[in-house]
Amino acid sequence: MTTLQEDPIAANKGIVINTGSSRLIFDPTPGRRLGEDRDVFITHAHSDHTSGFATSARKHSTPETLHIYESLSNRRVKNGRPVKIGEKIQFDDVEVRVLDAGHMLGSCQFHLIGPEFTALYTGDINCVDTLTTKPALPVHCDFLIIEATYGHPSYVFPPRDTIYADIIRWTMTEIQEDRLPTFQVYSSGKPQDIVRLFNVYTNIPVVCAPAISRANQVHNENGYQLDYLDSSTPAGKRALKERGCVYITTNRHDHVPRNAARAVATGWALREAFRSFTAFPLSSHADYNQLLQFISAANPKAVYIFTGYIDILSAQIERKLGIKAGPLPVHAQTKLLDFQKAR
Ligand SMILES: [Zn+2]
Repeated sequence: MTTLQEDPIAANKGIVINTGSSRLIFDPTPGRRLGEDRDVFITHAHSDHTSGFATSARKHSTPETLHIYESLSNRRVKNGRPVKIGEKIQFDDVEVRVLDAGHMLGSCQFHLIGPEFTALYTGDINCVDTLTTKPALPVHCDFLIIEATYGHPSYVFPPRDTIYADIIRWTMTEIQEDRLPTFQVYSSGKPQDIVRLFNVYTNIPVVCAPAISRANQVHNENGYQLDYLDSSTPAGKRALKERGCVYITTNRHDHVPRNAARAVATGWALREAFRSFTAFPLSSHADYNQLLQFISAANPKAVYIFTGYIDILSAQIERKLGIKAGPLPVHAQTKLLDFQKAR
């Protein structure tokens, strides 16, 4: 007999997991329309993961993710359901646990315990201590859905302390030579780690572009004591003019002072050249070794990779760990399983 069945885990404008009586959607992408009776889960506040906040669905995220999103987008989220790291939510016969992802303030993984299987969706993860986050820890699961942004053997980052020291050394040299050391980064996550780096290890004043200041403010409301000046305030403008400070601004921020010595902080710095920038391989993501260690510890029956070096990491997982791995099936549409088997 022909039966209709859905893939239990698939990509369909987001990651869709069908288990028990629930159909849950994680990090939906733009264009995903969801009514008020649906449940979406948002792992963190980077803009490639936050489209779910614009839907009508019930939005489950950490309070920190919600606040960073509201602060950066200037929007109020309706139907938000904040849930803290370490807490769990019950959906009929499915339990969803919220675990730290170590990627930025409020970033989380979702661990599902359903009647037929368990699954862990990592979102973006980082598995080492930073100045603002704790490492993501793996849990055992049947299915692991994981990123592979740096899932290539050539991406093995130097120790974080070494990169921090390189950043400070470069910054001090630029200041001595009367240039304005300027980091061009995203608004949230990495910049706060850099602000804290200068606060903890130097006396160099830190000036931040307004978008970064807004994310700084959410960090400070959560117990961080980031010390910085906003570049749009008189004190921030004065510090930039007088020099002797470090400036942290966003990629899109077009006003960079003429005496700026520009730098980027990204994992891509390991292999890519950034013309007219000094590049530091400071990443918020797990590198290749961290990914393999994480997967080995989670010891799943199968690994689905949703982004990055999908083919390369899948082959490595199968060869080194003996675990089945590959991309997510695309479309969570119903399919004729028995019909396929009969062909
Ligand atoms: Zn991210």
